[in-house]
Amino acid sequence: MPDLPRVVLKPRRAQPFFYRHPWVFDGAIHKVEGDPKVGDEALLVTDKGDPVARGLFNATSNIKLRLYTWNLDQPLDDAFFAERIDHAIRLRESLCPSWSESSAGRFVFSEGDGISGLTVDRYGDWLSVQFTSAALATRKDAILAHLQQRLSAKGIVLRSEKGMNEAEGLDAIDGPAVGAEPPRPVFVEEHGLRYGVDLLEGQKTGFFLDQRRNRLAAARYATGRVLDVFCYSGGFGLTALHTGGAKQVIGVDVSETAVTLANENAKLNGLDSKTAYIAKPAFEALEEFAAAGEKFDTIILDPPKMTRSRHTVDKALKGYYSLNKLAVDLLPPGGILVTCSCSGLVSREDFEQVLATVVMRTGRAIQILEARRQSPDHPASISCPETDYLKCYICRVT
Ligand code: SAH
Repeated sequence: MPDLPRVVLKPRRAQPFFYRHPWVFDGAIHKVEGDPKVGDEALLVTDKGDPVARGLFNATSNIKLRLYTWNLDQPLDDAFFAERIDHAIRLRESLCPSWSESSAGRFVFSEGDGISGLTVDRYGDWLSVQFTSAALATRKDAILAHLQQRLSAKGIVLRSEKGMNEAEGLDAIDGPAVGAEPPRPVFVEEHGLRYGVDLLEGQKTGFFLDQRRNRLAAARYATGRVLDVFCYSGGFGLTALHTGGAKQVIGVDVSETAVTLANENAKLNGLDSKTAYIAKPAFEALEEFAAAGEKFDTIILDPPKMTRSRHTVDKALKGYYSLNKLAVDLLPPGGILVTCSCSGLVSREDFEQVLATVVMRTGRAIQILEARRQSPDHPASISCPETDYLKCYICRVT
């Protein structure tokens, strides 16, 4: 058995870790032996002392130990993480060998790639990297050097996730970290359209890469007058105009910056005569459309995460209900509803129940044409259900 500090589990708490869930929460731990510091390797053992896996320790985080290997002889050194990163990159290269689908993609998806706490997005020659684990961030310099070399990046910017610095005891600072500073914006291509992406200040890491395949799938069904709610930089609506049967797009987003981005992207692609973007809260806009007796042939709902805690799931479900009900009321019989939820804590069953409640209260029927997930460069891990977070239902409302 390797000579490492040991994290000893409480009785009957080992099962998830034999199934390879990578997060060992405080509540599952009986005691920690050997005084590991943040970023030190530790061995997870059962209450009987049987070894389970190797991980990186962080006393500050609620996730005390993040597990990376079940091979007990494998040290978690720089070579180990470089190999894991290469493994993740090879998947993306096989998914998108010629960059024909897009010049942007997620190259490392944290737990989805067995690298809990690291996210890497590529935008052309530039990388945007997020550390969501202070333990893994102790290896930041080696990881960034490897990424730059392996992906021939001109530069890397670091972005932090909301609330993560406090939760992990990270002192991450957003901004350029390695190589040159990226232009603002960086231009990327997706489904034959060009988009400007602001790597330094854009939402998330600048673009919602997880919806890539869904934007194309939704476009196949989109017709006529399209309402793109929570449009951000315009992706769903613009794809519906470019590759689908959409004739006109009205986009709504509460953020003025997002509306400016969407307008710029519409112009960049010569589609601005068919688009109009409104900076307004979604509920307000939907209610105003209803009051004015407006109808849309296709409505896309892609709201931000509505809950980050189990305690607020019910509130989120009510929010999803109101939103979907308002949208259904604006659709004529035969209209298309593309409805998404990126709240990992809201299950597919819960989300379908929300739609069932809309049916009950409106008397309209909803047919699911496609029930989709996030794009495959965000692979979900069977061992970590939290990675399977995005739901995108393409429906016909009669
Ligand atoms: N559909 C987009 C991504 C949407 S992300 C795409 O494909 O790129 C969610 C968006 O919702 C963000 O742009 C955010 O500014 C916006 N948003 C958040 N709260 C909102 C609200 N109450 N009303 C309208 N938009 C909101």
